[in-house]
Parts: sequence; C-alpha cells; structure tokens
Amino acid sequence: MSAAIFSQEKLLFTPQTPKNDAIPLIFAFPNEYTVGITSLGYQIVWSTLAMREDVDISRLFTDIHETLPRSVEIVGFSVSWELDYVNILNLLESLSIPIFSQDRTECHPLVFGGGPVLTANPEPFADFFDVILLGDGENLLDSFIDTYQQVRNADRKTKLITLAQTPGIYIPSLYTVEYHSNDGAIAAIQPVSSEVPPVVQKQTYRGNILSASTVVTPKAAWESIFMVEVVRSCPEMCRFCLASYLTLPFRTASLEASLIPAIERGLQVTNRLGLLGASVTQHPEFPDLLAYINQSKYDDVRLSIASVRTNTVTPELAKTLAQRDTKSLTIAVESGSEKVRRIINKKLAQADIIQAAINAKIGGLSALKLYGMVGIPGEENTDLDATVEMMLAMKKAAPGLKLTLGCSTFVPKSHTPFQWFGVNQQAEKRLQYLQKNLKPKGIDFRPESYNWSVIQALLSRGDRRLSRLLILTRNFGDSLGSYKRAFKELKGEIPDLDFYVYTDWSYEQILPWQHLQGPLPQSTLLKHLKEAMEVKDSY
Ligand code: SF4
Repeated sequence: MSAAIFSQEKLLFTPQTPKNDAIPLIFAFPNEYTVGITSLGYQIVWSTLAMREDVDISRLFTDIHETLPRSVEIVGFSVSWELDYVNILNLLESLSIPIFSQDRTECHPLVFGGGPVLTANPEPFADFFDVILLGDGENLLDSFIDTYQQVRNADRKTKLITLAQTPGIYIPSLYTVEYHSNDGAIAAIQPVSSEVPPVVQKQTYRGNILSASTVVTPKAAWESIFMVEVVRSCPEMCRFCLASYLTLPFRTASLEASLIPAIERGLQVTNRLGLLGASVTQHPEFPDLLAYINQSKYDDVRLSIASVRTNTVTPELAKTLAQRDTKSLTIAVESGSEKVRRIINKKLAQADIIQAAINAKIGGLSALKLYGMVGIPGEENTDLDATVEMMLAMKKAAPGLKLTLGCSTFVPKSHTPFQWFGVNQQAEKRLQYLQKNLKPKGIDFRPESYNWSVIQALLSRGDRRLSRLLILTRNFGDSLGSYKRAFKELKGEIPDLDFYVYTDWSYEQILPWQHLQGPLPQSTLLKHLKEAMEVKDSY
C-alpha cells in the first residue's frame, strides 16, 4: 500500500542520492500520511534533509512508511497537534526505542522534535525527546545536522552537550527543574553544567523567500493542493495570540523572488493553490498578488486563502474567491464587544465587521464564517450580548449571506501577554448562552469543545511533571475525564488540574518555559498585559 501512495507524489525538489556514509535518519509525522503530507512544515523539513547527500532519510507516518533503515542514528518528529503525543510514544515503541530519553543508551538513536507545539511549550513532552529544535527550520535544521556530523562518533553525552551549544537547539535533559513542593510551583530551572547555556534562544529566519510545497499529491487532506507561505507571523499582536507573538517579527515573502516563482512552479503540476499565513491579506503587495493570480492563464485555478483580516475583505477579494471555487470566507473578530476587542488589541471597528459581510455578499460569496472567543480576561455578560447584536446587525446588512459563528474558549498560551491568566470557569456557560441566543435567530453557532480547551490549556501551561500524567492518559483515552482520572491517581505527587488550567499565575512565578526565550522579553509581555488591564479598568 505504501508504494502505491508514495508513487502518486509529484516532487517539486530534487532529492540527493545519499553518500555511502550518510546518516540513516527517520523523519516521522505522528499521524496518518494524509494529515502529515498536508503539513507544509513537515514537507519542508523532509525536503531540506533529502537534499543533503550526508543524510539518508526515510519517512514514517502512523499508517505507512518508506523502507526504514536497519540501524537508525536519528529519529525526528514534526509535531503540530498536542494530542499526537500518543502516536509519538507508539511510534517510538514500534521502533524499539525507549519512550523516556533517560532510558536510552549508546545503542539507541537520538530522538529530536520540532514544530509549532514544541516551539510553544515543549515541557510536558520534554522527557520524551533528546533534542528539541526551537524556531524556524530554515537555518536551524542544517546547523543541527552539521553539528551532529562533528560529534557523530562521540558518545551520547558529548553529542548532547555539543548540540546544546548550538543556537536554537534545546536538550531538555541538560536542565534540572526544582519545585517548591511536589504539587507546588517551579523554584528554579538550571543548566547542569557551565557548558550548557542557561537560556535557549528560539531561532528566527529573516529572509524574504518563504516556504512553498515541495510535494503535491492527491492523497493530501487538501487534495493536490500547492501551498505557498505568503507571510510569517502577524503584526497585529492580539494579546492572546500565539500565532503572532511566538513567531514575530512579521515577515513577508518577496513577490518577485518568492511568491511568483513558487506559484509558477506549483501550478505546473496542479490547479489548486492555497495561500498560507496568519494574516495573508496583510502582505503589502497583496493586491498585486491577486492581480497576478487573476491572469486568464490561471482561469481554472482553485484558490483557498488561510486567513483574512476583517477590514481587508474587499468586494474584489470576495469576487476573486467566488470565481475560483471558494464560496465562503473566514474572519476572526473574537468578540462583538468593542471593549473586549480593545482589551485584546484587536484594532477592528464594528463598522468594519458589518462592511466585511456586505462586501462578501457583493463579491458573490454565499457564506461568511466568523471566529469568536469567550472567557477573554475582562469579558462580562453584557459583552456576550454585544456579540449577539453584532451577528444580528450583520444578518440585517447582508441578507441571504449565510453567517456562522465558530466560538472557542480563551486558552492561555506561552510567550503571550495573557500567559499568566487561567481559563475562565464561566466559559462553558457563556458558550451555552450564545448558543441559546443565536440559534433561534437563524445564525449557525459552532462552539468548540470546552473540554478540549481545558486540555489545551493544561498542555499549554504544563511543566515536565506532566509526562507521568501523559503516560497514564495514553492508556485511559484522550477525553477530559481521562485526564481527571490521571490527576486523581497522581494526587499529591504533581499539582492539580486547577493549578495548570484555571489559576491566574503570579508574575513572579517561574514559568515552565522561562529558560526558552521567545521573540519578546518578559518585560515587553508584561507591558502589553498592563496596557490591556488599563483598557479593562477604563470601562
Ligand atoms: S489578527 Fe489574528 S493572527 Fe493576527 S494577532 Fe490577531 S488573532 Fe493573531
């Protein structure tokens, strides 16, 4: 089965033939092929390593794999979804590799991980990895392999200590974490020796050539899509937003040097184009990009856009999408309340939101989906009424346009100004309130699972003590009930669920990721938090 699936891939890069002494490396995605191959991050790491003649790479997914080497030296994982940790542990076992890093010996490969989940907060998973790559892969991946080559024949300890000295490479086992008590906060995080840097700096790529698909296949979750990264990060800095804060600064791909050549390459093998990025329409040359795609030679191209800032929904954009097989557009407004939007630094007026609906309709789209959030710090019940009113005003302004409000619960994320806040215990009730008030008025309301938000918050603010809990929930299943059961079993040995999820943390508290430096210093995050609270207090 594997061969039949891999044979449908159209490669947009040229893999090198590995040299005789190339490093045998397995690069895994801890989910099925169709999910993994749709991850642009996975594609890029795979192709970067496959273009090195000193690496002999084989791909591994949970359902299929390429021919695996008999004796592997490095095993890597690209992690984009927290709950895939279960699959990481299963894959390690299937390769006869101990799941805890401390149990691996000279005869085992080095296990590395990277990707958005580990870059945000690797700590709950830290005990499973020997090496974690923090930040953009562009330069980091090559420096990882280059450094490894220098110590390839050394013992495991020397390898790890040498790798730890490379910027962006985090070796969890070389840091000790002390706690005030078994179930208390962190007291100190320290490197084990003076050779290990006390702080690991996440790496930032600063070029203007951003990534694009290196493989197109009908078996991808988005069938035969060619993806192009238009922007990286988002300049808006909504105070809760990991997609912005963790990846700053905002970078844009050069139209001439990056976007057009990539699109030309990709559209030779498919007619489905996806424009990716946290804030695609904020590219300064976005109208030119749209004009380029609107050429008659691309008339049959189906276009998808990942995210659109509300006040950039023009009739022209809506028209282009409608003509190219996209019937619906998604905008994130977070809340119908001006106060809440100001607290989170969402620079969006009510009139812009209404206008987006009108423009979507004029352009010929049939549906508009909005993203909202409940439980944002400072939100009160009256703010929910403002959201209901906003939806009704949109319905009135653009009759016939199908409106959907998808709504999540605020989850604190590391490296953002709101990382110190816990989840609001009222959030579930607030989701129900919106449901009750929107459904009868003909507005499709799609709440995201509150229980899933609780699990996300737990992993988002978790520390290393959670690895024991994850081993238990692995067997119990991935429902919130399983996590609660595991907490019960470990009562007194680790903090409780409330500590990680619901408690507001003190600003003096040592954070689990304190030794991992994101783009902004803590002082800036605190300044942004203070500004948000000043807005809240002004109402
Ligand atoms: S506009 Fe969207 S992507 Fe940008 S910071 Fe705000 S929530 Fe994040």
